[in-house]
Amino acid sequence: MDIKKIIELDEKYYFGTFGKRTPLMFTHGNGCKLYDSEGREYTDFFAGIATNCLGYAHEGLTKAVKEQAGAIMHCSNIYYIEAQSLLAEKLCSLTECNRVFFCNSGAEANEGAIKLARKYFYGKGDKRYEILTAQNSFHGRTMATLAATGQEKYHKPYDPLTPSFKHFVYNDIDSVKSLISDKTCAIMAETVLGEGGVIPGDIDFLNGLQKLCEEHGLLFILDEIQTGVCRTGSFFSFQSLGFTPDICTLAKALGGGIPIAAILAKDHVAKAFIQGDHGSTFGGNPLACASALYTCSYLLDNGFEGRVKELGKYLLQKLKEAVEGSENIVEIRGRGLLVGIELKDGFPAADMVRKAREKGYIIGTAGVNTLRLAPPLIVEKDDIDGLCLCLKEILM
Ligand SMILES: *Cc1c(COP(=O)(O)O)cnc(C)c1O
Repeated sequence: MDIKKIIELDEKYYFGTFGKRTPLMFTHGNGCKLYDSEGREYTDFFAGIATNCLGYAHEGLTKAVKEQAGAIMHCSNIYYIEAQSLLAEKLCSLTECNRVFFCNSGAEANEGAIKLARKYFYGKGDKRYEILTAQNSFHGRTMATLAATGQEKYHKPYDPLTPSFKHFVYNDIDSVKSLISDKTCAIMAETVLGEGGVIPGDIDFLNGLQKLCEEHGLLFILDEIQTGVCRTGSFFSFQSLGFTPDICTLAKALGGGIPIAAILAKDHVAKAFIQGDHGSTFGGNPLACASALYTCSYLLDNGFEGRVKELGKYLLQKLKEAVEGSENIVEIRGRGLLVGIELKDGFPAADMVRKAREKGYIIGTAGVNTLRLAPPLIVEKDDIDGLCLCLKEILM
């Protein structure tokens, strides 16, 4: 159908949550290439917000999803589900977070993680309930996760917020210390502030959070929704930082494009949830689990952790070569294939996204004035070279 007609329908019927969208409709893709309804080709450096890790029309993934869809798509968690158990084994064998629960979105996983932390202390008869999160963090859009999110613009309309969240300054350990009290039960953080501007956590800071949790008997929750699934060079970003959190959450890339999310926890923490404490109708369904099982196995069996580390370095280096001297740029930063280019004030990121698109590259934004790159993990050096040339033309 013609995109004009689709825009009309959207404006007439859809909630206004996405406002005037980019006037573009993708009809299909292949590898890192996307095609719109006018037949134009684009190279994708955004992956539907760090989600389509195997790109588009991946042969093996498509086959795995088709086969599962042809067998059984949904079944209640009253019964055993083969793909769910195999996926659980795969994820839990990677770290000491060796128990898992599957749900459907990032916010839902964080919501469950918050509940788990609260239940853990409730079970011990300990009346702690407060969770510390970072200013400029992003944890989701449910009532609890938006309160956890440290961004004023998401809070205002929903006052009074779900209580019990306090926000520290990211990369400032003293600010965290000053908020810990006998009511604190957990610290929840991203290893890179994703939506908040692609700001990597200092390794000392992140280790400091872990130490504070140990010292004060708090649970450490990592939101790995954007940084997980090999995005930063290890399957979980914490694996290259030298500690394991008590709870962590995954979503976005986990299903290679099919909605699925996970809460992982150390055994003794996971055990705080007993029968009836939590649940989900769709969570862990056969279709989503088959898709995630294929995606994760593919990434792990084909050396993607190393590949992302190498290509991430290449991307940063090439970007710096191409645009570092530009007066319009404040900083280029990132971990693995999650990279931000912070622009000077008055040099709006949204304009740059449009200009890149006109030259055939899909990129995104994060925070106030930062371009965000999060390509499919199958991206090739040639794609990176092309993008850097494009950014040089629009930023220099
Ligand atoms: C995207 C994101 C979420 C929310 O995930 P949804 O699937 O949109 O609910 C939460 N935390 C982080 C770090 C994210 O990047």
